[in-house]
Amino acid sequence: MEQIENLAKQALQQIQECTQMKELNDLRVYYLGKKGPVQELMKNMKNLSPEERPIFGQQVNQLKGQIAETIEQKKEELAMKEMEEKIEKEKIDITLPGRKPVVGNMHPLNLITQELEDLFIGLGYQVIEGNDIVSDEYCFERANIPKDHPARDMQDSLYIDPNWLLRTHTTAIQMKVLEESAPNLPIKVVCPGKVYRRDDDDATHSHQFMQMEGLVIGEHVTLSDLKGTLEFMAKKLFGQDRQIRFRPSFFPFTEPSVEVDVSCHICNGKGCPTCKNTGWIEILGAGEVHPNVLKMAGYDPDKCSGFAFGVGIERVAMLKYGIDDIRHFYTDDLRFLDTFKRYE
Ligand SMILES: [Zn+2]
Repeated sequence: MEQIENLAKQALQQIQECTQMKELNDLRVYYLGKKGPVQELMKNMKNLSPEERPIFGQQVNQLKGQIAETIEQKKEELAMKEMEEKIEKEKIDITLPGRKPVVGNMHPLNLITQELEDLFIGLGYQVIEGNDIVSDEYCFERANIPKDHPARDMQDSLYIDPNWLLRTHTTAIQMKVLEESAPNLPIKVVCPGKVYRRDDDDATHSHQFMQMEGLVIGEHVTLSDLKGTLEFMAKKLFGQDRQIRFRPSFFPFTEPSVEVDVSCHICNGKGCPTCKNTGWIEILGAGEVHPNVLKMAGYDPDKCSGFAFGVGIERVAMLKYGIDDIRHFYTDDLRFLDTFKRYE
């Protein structure tokens, strides 16, 4: 009986002092296992008198039950403690300030393109895009630039084979629109897109840049309609005080052709380095659509007329945002790109 009591005392104390689940499991295997001290006690049974045996057996079983129950209680206690520790460890402090996710912003060239698209959509134009690779026919011949025309020297082109090239202007889209629309009128489209030239890159030149060309064909479309449209555009882009002026020029696909200047938005026409002290900044080329272009597309130049213009997106962006090197647009430098967040 003393042995039982001592074993009970020892076992219960060990179980109570146990702090780890593994340790507790070891104790369970030790005390309740087949080779454990409780089972060992049973072996003493044979030394007892028949009257004592049942009492002894009952006591040992009671001890077994007590140990098992205590272990079970301890197990729950430890599990609870483990859970609390885990919760404590994984606690999230929701009062800590969060990390801001990096959010990109519009590229300056897309900002200008979108601004121009919105402007022309507001004037009733359709925005039409086309392929970067175009046929020689639609890029040049339909634009009144035949193979032997000296104007072909004006743009050194990137040919893929004798008949296909990377477009040197977005004119090919307009030529398709003209052909597909004939003989319906009116046509009012703007065509934005990348264009490619065989050019050495420097601060003001790039072998790849963006253009937006516009085309309007109707029954009585005149040069004054062109002037009104471009003046509206200049005021929207560079401020309500802007004025425009036409200077004679030459493009094979327009007749007459003009270079368009905008009064300098920096010095207001007084003269500054940006406008080279002239008070005017050249921003685009334009003109009345050449009768040959209309004829080739299936229109009668005696019954309709129209104008076309082409504006360089980089040129506008550089003037508007005060950027001095065209290469900034293509180097993907985040320090440069991030500064355009404020224009969105
Ligand atoms: Zn100026």
